[in-house]
Amino acid sequence: MLQNFVPVNEPLLDGNEKKYLNECIDTGWISSEGSFVKKFEDGIAKVCNRKYGIAVCNGTAALDIAVKSLDLPPGSEVIMPTFTIISCAAAVVKNGLIPVLVDSDSITWNMDIDCIEKKITKKTKAIMIVHIYGLPVDVDPILKLAKKYNLKVIEDAAEAIGQTYNGLSCGSFGDISIFSFYPNKHITTGEGGMVVIDDEVLAEKCRSFRNLCFKKEKRFVHDELGFNYRFTNLQAAVGLAQLEKLTDHVNKKREIGKFYTEQFKDIKFLQLPLEKTGYAQNIYWVYGIVLKDDYPHDAEFVMKELTKKGIGTRPFFWPMHEQPVFKKMGLFEGESYPVAEKIARRGFYIPSGLGITDEQMNFVAEKLREVLHASF
Ligand SMILES: *Cc1c(COP(=O)(O)O)cnc(C)c1O
Repeated sequence: MLQNFVPVNEPLLDGNEKKYLNECIDTGWISSEGSFVKKFEDGIAKVCNRKYGIAVCNGTAALDIAVKSLDLPPGSEVIMPTFTIISCAAAVVKNGLIPVLVDSDSITWNMDIDCIEKKITKKTKAIMIVHIYGLPVDVDPILKLAKKYNLKVIEDAAEAIGQTYNGLSCGSFGDISIFSFYPNKHITTGEGGMVVIDDEVLAEKCRSFRNLCFKKEKRFVHDELGFNYRFTNLQAAVGLAQLEKLTDHVNKKREIGKFYTEQFKDIKFLQLPLEKTGYAQNIYWVYGIVLKDDYPHDAEFVMKELTKKGIGTRPFFWPMHEQPVFKKMGLFEGESYPVAEKIARRGFYIPSGLGITDEQMNFVAEKLREVLHASF
């Protein structure tokens, strides 16, 4: 690796992480039984105005148990964006349900809300909303549809902790909502995730699924199959320290976004992330860039050139309807979602983690300009 390589993400761990971790080690409380877990769950629940938080080992696991807890009839359809991470569709499929896809809005990259209603059938039982790259999806019209057709809402707010929609917290909108604490999220625990919810019965179900469905009255007896998706006190220790910095982290992300936008806004063939919409100000989970049609290469070319210059990048999500694994299952045959297909091929993101320095951002901006101008 080059000496000056700027990784696509570096976390920022500059608060009480060490102090709380030392407490775990000094007291011997390192498993999921430690007291930081409950504190972290309560802290996150509070941030998004929820009654309960159920911490699990990652965001994918949170989606798995969130979908499972709703207990939808087998074969029910769940409407979701095609442009998202595999975890969303995987949770649906693994629970015996059918993902029904919706294309993206070309400006926000979120699910195109005008395409949802025509996808609703008698078998539709839920909508999974996913806030993409730091801008919330337009929630209100979706909640209205959900009410009209009596659908559950599953909210994937993995990229939107600390974000609001019309002043209300992301993570508060689903019948059940989830977060991830992977190192590129606004709060990290290394690996980690959480289900947040108001319904006490569902919360208890999720706790049970997280912990192998041990029977309360008789341990090692099981009425249902669960998972070991437990979250450790060590993770919670880091999470609690991170949570204390949530506002700082969101502000820093906005500064990163502002800096890059300032640097690139004169380059006509780049589509940059929206700074704000009528309902939210971007919190730039990542700083994504889409190459417009008049630029002669795709994202793969630019990413390769940037790697040579010491800049880490990632491609955009690859749409669910183009996933080989789902094709093999006979899903989404002949379906096409042109916006998602295009941004998947023309989009990538540049180093925008919380640990990035001003010097690194300047370096990234300079090298990206160089690459683009040499190739156009
Ligand atoms: C990161 C992410 C997840 C999954 O989180 P993991 O903790 O990596 O399993 C789910 N959904 C979205 C939208 C994400 O960005």
